[in-house]
Amino acid sequence: MNYTSLAGELQSLVKGTVLVKEPMKKHTTWRIGGNADLFINPADKEDVRQAVEFARNNQIPLTVIGNGSNLLVKDGGIRGMVLKVGRGLAGISLEGTTLKAGAGALLPELAAAARQAGVGGFEFAAGIPGSLGGAVLMNAGAINGCVADVLVSVVALDEENRFIILPKDELNFSYRSSILQGKPIVCLETIWQGFPKKSETIKEETQQYLSKRKAAQPQGYPTAGSVFKNPDGDYAGRLIEACACKGLRVGDAEVSQKHANWIVNLGQATAQDVLTLIEKIKRQVQERFGTTLHLEVRVLGED
Ligand SMILES: Cc1cc2nc3c(=O)[nH]c(=O)nc-3n(C[C@H](O)[C@H](O)[C@H](O)COP(=O)(O)OP(=O)(O)OC[C@H]3O[C@@H](n4cnc5c(N)ncnc54)[C@H](O)[C@@H]3O)c2cc1C
Repeated sequence: MNYTSLAGELQSLVKGTVLVKEPMKKHTTWRIGGNADLFINPADKEDVRQAVEFARNNQIPLTVIGNGSNLLVKDGGIRGMVLKVGRGLAGISLEGTTLKAGAGALLPELAAAARQAGVGGFEFAAGIPGSLGGAVLMNAGAINGCVADVLVSVVALDEENRFIILPKDELNFSYRSSILQGKPIVCLETIWQGFPKKSETIKEETQQYLSKRKAAQPQGYPTAGSVFKNPDGDYAGRLIEACACKGLRVGDAEVSQKHANWIVNLGQATAQDVLTLIEKIKRQVQERFGTTLHLEVRVLGED
């Protein structure tokens, strides 16, 4: 496919930016990933609709991303179009204790809007750097709550390019999982329900929670947060640490000294470095504890 001419065609249809051979390392918090053939940063919902239709009409494979904070993009990059739901769809509005927000808004922005309005239930969101679309896909959460606790519904575009409303009950949420994972669907808008709570109390609790997170998590290096899901009744970090994997390194990818379930990019780590390290960790945990670790991060693209 001639992506340069396709990019020109798509650019004439949308207000947002269309790019060719865009390095995905610019769009992942791990700062890792090869090029996307075609990349669009939509300016609004209508741009998303145009891009999805364009991809379908031209048989271009479509990958949707949010803030790239749970992604490992392989070194060969992503074939076809990457659609980033970001700042063009990031508005947040409030009515009583109900919040409505674009899927490109970030969890800490949602938490801040709720805090300022005296709406509780969103304290967990303050420290997680994902977009709301990505958060719904992942049922993102922490010790003090998760998406499934406060989400009401999602407005999405389905593969036929129709706007659909998905109530929470249809999303089959479980630990870091929703029915939307792997589905050709674009989350556009989210509705949330909190409860009245004093802003001052929310502020204090959030500060305490954020400083606990800061103390437990590596700072200063690109990461994607927890690499593996916690196995039932245990912690991936505990198992990995017990296998003496802290500090284990492949290329510039290193198991964090501070939190064994995090892999940090010391500078020039490749996706292959991270994947090799992941395999080493899995093997050691399997051999020592008989436990199979499953990835929380989502792997996209080609070798
Ligand atoms: C420092 C750090 C701390 C973290 N702490 C936590 C934590 O405490 N708890 C936790 O749960 N996670 C945590 N994470 C992981 C991550 O922030 C969450 O998984 C987050 O919800 C991912 O959102 P995102 O927008 O970055 O999604 P992405 O990483 O961009 O994508 C994740 C998945 O969602 C899909 N997707 C994204 N947006 C859309 C959309 N609009 N429509 C359809 N599909 C979409 C993608 O295709 C992909 O499959 C952390 C990450 C980092 C870097």
